[in-house]
Amino acid sequence: MTHSVAVIGGDGIGPEVVAEALKVVAASGVDLDTTHYDLGGARYLRDGTILPDEVLDELRDFDAILLGAVGTPEVPPGVIERGLLLKMRFALDQYVNLRPFLHEPAGVDLVVVRENTEGAYAGEGGFLRKGTPHEVATQGSVNTRMGVERCVRFAFDLASGRPARHLTLVHKTNVLTFAGDLWQRTFDEVGVDHPEVATAYDHVDAACIHLVADPGRYDVIVTDNLFGDILTDLAGAVSGGIGVAASANLNPDRTAPSMFEPVHGSAPDIAGTATANPVAAILSAAMMLDFLGEADAAARIRTACTKVADASRSVSTSDIGDRVAELV
Ligand code: ATP
Repeated sequence: MTHSVAVIGGDGIGPEVVAEALKVVAASGVDLDTTHYDLGGARYLRDGTILPDEVLDELRDFDAILLGAVGTPEVPPGVIERGLLLKMRFALDQYVNLRPFLHEPAGVDLVVVRENTEGAYAGEGGFLRKGTPHEVATQGSVNTRMGVERCVRFAFDLASGRPARHLTLVHKTNVLTFAGDLWQRTFDEVGVDHPEVATAYDHVDAACIHLVADPGRYDVIVTDNLFGDILTDLAGAVSGGIGVAASANLNPDRTAPSMFEPVHGSAPDIAGTATANPVAAILSAAMMLDFLGEADAAARIRTACTKVADASRSVSTSDIGDRVAELV
C-alpha cells in the first residue's frame, strides 16, 4: 500500500535531516508517494509566502505531513511559528502533540501528551495603549472542556496500552485555580473509565525536578500546551539530546492529516556542515509509519536507530542515514 505524504523540508538543517528520514523509510520497504512543498523562512523572505489557504487545502488530502524545521534568523520571531506551524496545527485539528523519550542509560522511557490547540498558545489576548508608557498586554490561556477531555482521553488510552499503565497529570493547580481545576476534574472523571491505569499528579515545577532527578517515575505525562512545550525540551535534554527527540502533531480522529517533525529547529549555526543528527527526523518518520499502520517498519527503524546512537557524534548526517538504512 502506498501512503501519500506531503514533505516540508523547510529551512537550515530541515531539508538535510528529512532527506535521511525518507531514505530510511524507503529502505524499510514502505512505499511513500511524496510531494515536496517549498515553505518556511527562506520562502517567506523570497516572496512573502507563509502558508496560503490553497496550500493548506491541498495538505488536507495527504495521509500525513513530514516536516524538517522551519525558521530563519532573518525572519522576526513568531511570523513562521504562527503563520505556518500553529496555523497548520489549528486548521488540521492536530490536538495532541506526542513526544516519546527513550534513553535507557538515564532510565527514561516516557511519553508526553501535550494539548496542542489551546492554552496560552491559542492566541487569545491583545494590546491596549500599545507603545505608550501605559501599555497593557494580555495573553489568556484558553481551556475548553472538549479540548481538555479529548487530550486526556487520548493519554489514558495510550497509557492503557503500555506495560506500566501509569499516567501523570502535570499542571499548576494550586495557582492556576480555574484552568487547573478544569484539568484535574476532567482527569479524574475520565480516569473512572480507565481503572486499569494508575494515576498521579505533579505540579509543573516539581515535575522539572523529577524529570532530572528521577525520570523513571514517569510513564505517560499529560499536560497543557505551554507546560508541555517546556517540559519536553527538558525531557529531551535528559534523554539523549535534541538530535534524537521526535514528535507528532496528531489528529487522532483522522479528520485531517497528522504532522510529524523533529523537536529541534532549523539550527542555522550548523546548516550546510553535514553535522546535523538526522535521528530525530528519522524517529519522527517512524512515528508517522506507526500512525499509517506500518508498525513493523516503524519498530525496525527504531531498533536500527538505537544501534547507531553511539556513532552519531562523529559521522556525517548522510552517513548516519546510510547506517540506519542498512540496518532496517
Ligand atoms: P528554534 O527556535 O527553531 O527551535 P533554535 O536555534 O533556538 O531554533 P535549534 O535549531 O533546535 O534551536 O538549535 C539549538 C541548538 O541545537 C543549535 O546550536 C544547534 O546546532 C543544535 N541542534 C539542533 N538540532 C540539531 C541536530 N539535529 N543535530 C545536531 N545539533 C542540533
